[in-house]
Amino acid sequence: MQVTTFGVIGAGQMGGGIAQVAAASGLNVILHDIADEFVAKGMKVITANLQRSVDKGKLSTDEMEAILGRIRTVTDLAAMKDADIVVEAASEKEDIKFNIFTQLDSICPPHTILASNTSSIPIGRIAARTSRPDKVIGMHFMNPVPVMKLVEVIRALPTSDETYQVTVDLAVKMGKVPAQASDYPGFIANRILLPMINEAIFCLYQGVGDRESIDKVMEYGMNHPMGPLALADLIGLDTCLAILTTLHQGLGDPKYRPCPLLRQYVEAGWLGRKSGRGFYTYAPKA
Ligand code: NAD
Repeated sequence: MQVTTFGVIGAGQMGGGIAQVAAASGLNVILHDIADEFVAKGMKVITANLQRSVDKGKLSTDEMEAILGRIRTVTDLAAMKDADIVVEAASEKEDIKFNIFTQLDSICPPHTILASNTSSIPIGRIAARTSRPDKVIGMHFMNPVPVMKLVEVIRALPTSDETYQVTVDLAVKMGKVPAQASDYPGFIANRILLPMINEAIFCLYQGVGDRESIDKVMEYGMNHPMGPLALADLIGLDTCLAILTTLHQGLGDPKYRPCPLLRQYVEAGWLGRKSGRGFYTYAPKA
C-alpha cells in the first residue's frame, strides 16, 4: 500500500514533531487537535523548529515553506477520511484514545492503518475498539521526534503482516530506525527507561542525593545525554506517572510502583517543561 496522506491526532509535543517529520519526508499531513489554539500552538513549535534549521543553514527557506505547505491543520476528526495512515498522539488516557479510535474507525476508509503513539496502553486493547484490528498498530516515536531516530513498532496479536510492513517502511521513509516490540506493558523502551526514572525520583524522595547530584551521576558517570530527572521533565511527569501505572497494573510487580513524590508533583500540576515546573523550573517560552 502506498502512503501519501498521513493523519496525526494531537498537536502537542509528540504530534507536532511527528507531523513535522512526516511533512519533511514529503508526505501530505493532516494535523488534528480539539481546538484551534492547540493546532496553532503545534504549528508555532513546528515553524520555530524549522526556522532553527534554516538559521543553521541545514534547510532553505523554500524547503521550509514547502514543508509547512504540506501540513493542513483541522479540528474536525472527519478530515481523516483522506488519510492512508493516522498516528494518534493525543494525551495518554485510555478513554480519550478509545474514543478517538472508535471514531476514526467509522470515518476512515477500509484501507487506512490506525496507529497509536501511546507510551504504554496495550495496542490490542485499542484494536479491539475497532472493526479493523488487523490494521491497528503501535508506532511509538521518541521525544524530541525530529532528533531521535528510534520508532518502536508494536504488533498486537491481530496486527497483520501487511500493516506491520507498511508501518516499518514508512518509519524508514521518515528517516527513522524501526525496532519491533511485542504488545506487553511499556513495550521495550519504557519497560527499561521508566523504572530508571522512577528509581531516580525515589533517590530524591529518600534524600540519597539532590536533583543536581542524581542527574550528574547519570550524565557524567553513565554518559547519558541528560539526567533522569531532567528527562522526566522533558517527557512530562503526567506521562511518566501514566506509564508507570500501566507497568504496575499490567505486570503486577511492586517494583514498578510509582514513587509517591512523582504522584505529588503531578497532583500539584508540576508536569515538567510543559507546565514550567517539574523537578526543575523553566522560563516561559517567548
Ligand atoms: P501533550 O500533552 O504534549 O499533547 C497531547 C495533545 O493531545 C494536546 O495538544 C491535547 O490538546 C491533544 N488532545 C487531547 N485530547 C484529544 C482528542 N480527543 N483529540 C485530539 N487531540 C487531543 O502530550 P505528548 O507528550 O505529545 O504525548 C502524546 C502521546 O505521545 C501520549 O500517548 C504519550 O504517551 C506519547 N508519547 C510521549 C512521549 C514524551 O516524551 N512526551 C514519548 C513517546 C510517546
